[in-house]
Amino acid sequence: MVSLFLTEIAKDYNRGIEAVEFKVLEKGMMGKVVASKLRDAYRLFIDKEKMKCVPQIMFVLYHEIAHIELFHLGYKFYLRDAILQEAREKEADHWALNKLGIIDTAGKPTKSDMACHECLIENSPMCLKYKK
Ligand SMILES: [Zn+2]
Ligand SMILES: [Zn+2]
Repeated sequence: MVSLFLTEIAKDYNRGIEAVEFKVLEKGMMGKVVASKLRDAYRLFIDKEKMKCVPQIMFVLYHEIAHIELFHLGYKFYLRDAILQEAREKEADHWALNKLGIIDTAGKPTKSDMACHECLIENSPMCLKYKK
């Protein structure tokens, strides 16, 4: 199901994003980006069933946008390297959390959002702030 609300937010970062869709994804995968062959159009998928809270949906959305904005998708062959892959995931997390105001540019949690920091980064089994 396409989320028009999330699609509008995503388009604000990149006009090439055609749609953000809620979709059941494989085990362990919360979101993904699918690029067209020419890499000028993208579709983002988020597995809503796996989300603990609304901030996590936003976090996964921004994380996937980050992979586009940080040019991670154009360098697929690097991604075969597990260490580089891990580094890119961290980079995308950092970008997303910073855009959402949960961490500052140095990577430190902002005081206002400690609960979501725990929820999103420390991987607590449930959200400390919001309930589903
Ligand atoms: Zn990622
Ligand atoms: Zn939360």
